[in-house]
Amino acid sequence: MHITAIAGGVGGARFVRGLRHHLDTTPGLADSTITVVANTGDDITLFGLRVCPDVDTLLYTLGDGVHEGQGWGRADESHRVQAELAAYGAVPQWFALGDLDIATHVVRSQWLGQGVSLSEVTAHLAARWGLPERRIELLPMTDVPVETHVVVDDGEGSERAIHFQEWWVRHQAAIDARRFVVAGLDRATPAPGVLDAIRRADVVLLPPSNPVVSIGIVLGVPGVRDALRGTNAPVVGVSPLISGRPVRGHADACLAAIGVEQTAQAVAGLYEDFLDGWLVDPADAATTLRRARVEVFDGPLLMSDVEASARIAAHALRLAETGRA
Ligand code: GDP
Ligand code: CA
Repeated sequence: MHITAIAGGVGGARFVRGLRHHLDTTPGLADSTITVVANTGDDITLFGLRVCPDVDTLLYTLGDGVHEGQGWGRADESHRVQAELAAYGAVPQWFALGDLDIATHVVRSQWLGQGVSLSEVTAHLAARWGLPERRIELLPMTDVPVETHVVVDDGEGSERAIHFQEWWVRHQAAIDARRFVVAGLDRATPAPGVLDAIRRADVVLLPPSNPVVSIGIVLGVPGVRDALRGTNAPVVGVSPLISGRPVRGHADACLAAIGVEQTAQAVAGLYEDFLDGWLVDPADAATTLRRARVEVFDGPLLMSDVEASARIAAHALRLAETGRA
């Protein structure tokens, strides 16, 4: 079986890790392959280094190198380089860059500077993290630089756009977002393999990633949404909200900015034109959708460890087999 997943960072990575575990421990499914299409709207250039936060979270999580407590960054990390940058007065200081993590950004930037495409660079990085051996292919959504910006009130009656990371990390999404503007998205083309991965999949899964600034950005790459509408594969999603609240992060603020209600039902509505199945927490059992089959997970929809994530992924796969509502 070939499964394609569209993912942001922490939610996407934990889900795919659970999916891999489920496939590996289920007779007949171990040789299944997974293609992960990653959001790159979070990408940012800092100190001349190209940082791809969601891709890196996927690499470290799927490669067993992630800081488990944080959900992102490297385990056993130190911050000596960042301290030295601070001593020079170099800015910004609000974005955490660990020493081991910096090596990823250095090598990525070096290869990009030599003209290697982001998808080829990502494949090199994935090889270092053992993803091919795990039958996981990691693709950036596009090779074209794309950056999500957030339009906020400047406090003086007009508005200004700041980089998504500045809003999310520095301001903790605490200033009202008026809208998101994704620089470069209109001229982006899907990275090689992305559309085929959607069209040729047996199942397409939407992990519980942020529906606006992770999955929503991937869906905005010209061609991706059409491929999802056109694929013969069932498309099944897992709700990132429980009782109207994100499990982590600020998905509520993102939904408010685009005027969408903060419920599992409303999030599924964002995918209405291609979604076949939607898995929700027992607290959201009242969810009804016109076109997609809704199922309630047997327990909290929480990816608290690999086994719990694997059970959620297994349910999502069963829901895909059940077929369309
Ligand atoms: P980010 O790029 O690191 O913000 O990660 P993603 O976009 O992939 O995922 C963030 C979303 O995952 C948030 O909206 C969370 O509510 C959701 N999420 C994280 N952990 C869990 C979990 O254990 N269960 C569910 N249902 N959603 C989760
Ligand atoms: Ca992200």
